Amino acid sequence: MLNVILFGPPGSGKGTQATKLKEHFNLIHISTGDLLRGEIKNETPLGVEAQNFMDKGLLVPDEIIIGMISSKIDENQDSNGIICDGFPRTVAQAEALDNLLDVKSSKIAGLVALEVGEEELKTRLLERGKTSGRSDDTDLATIERRIVEYKEKTAPVANYYKADDKYVSVAGEGSIDEIFENLKQVFEALSAG
Ligand code: AMP
Repeated sequence: MLNVILFGPPGSGKGTQATKLKEHFNLIHISTGDLLRGEIKNETPLGVEAQNFMDKGLLVPDEIIIGMISSKIDENQDSNGIICDGFPRTVAQAEALDNLLDVKSSKIAGLVALEVGEEELKTRLLERGKTSGRSDDTDLATIERRIVEYKEKTAPVANYYKADDKYVSVAGEGSIDEIFENLKQVFEALSAG
């Protein structure tokens, strides 16, 4: 199985690239942000709880996320692999993910980080907010809070995988197709082991 974490700050293009990569490599794309927005839309208790955090630009508690990831991994045991988009976002989530995969005799092949400058992130998110219908993309203070959460809680996840020699970085600025070409090469290398 080719299990890859597509990593990067909010607005770095993870969702856009994951959609292209899953087609090309026939992988399952799991986005915790999309799963949470689905729960909110369906007005589930989990959605109601998560929304309080998401509206403020804060991370949703680990227990909620780990439970969601666990059931998604169970559902996709027979796939060619998973692109993890938007998780793990904390070291506790990374440890839980490793354990969940370990039980299935599987593992993360690599963490691929999209590098994008902070001003570019803000511009992209505000632009996306015009059409995404996401309240967390329209308000600059919420966007900035999400970037702070990323720096404080999510960036350390890269070090967790660096320690295991599983970290690869890719330039995340440029055209979508250019970035995709670079990501394709990285995924090919990871799948070759
Ligand atoms: P995203 O669509 O990945 O930008 O996520 C939108 C929001 O959902 C984030 O700002 C968090 O509030 C929440 N969220 C998504 N994934 C996670 C995660 N793995 N851990 C904690 N919160 C998350």
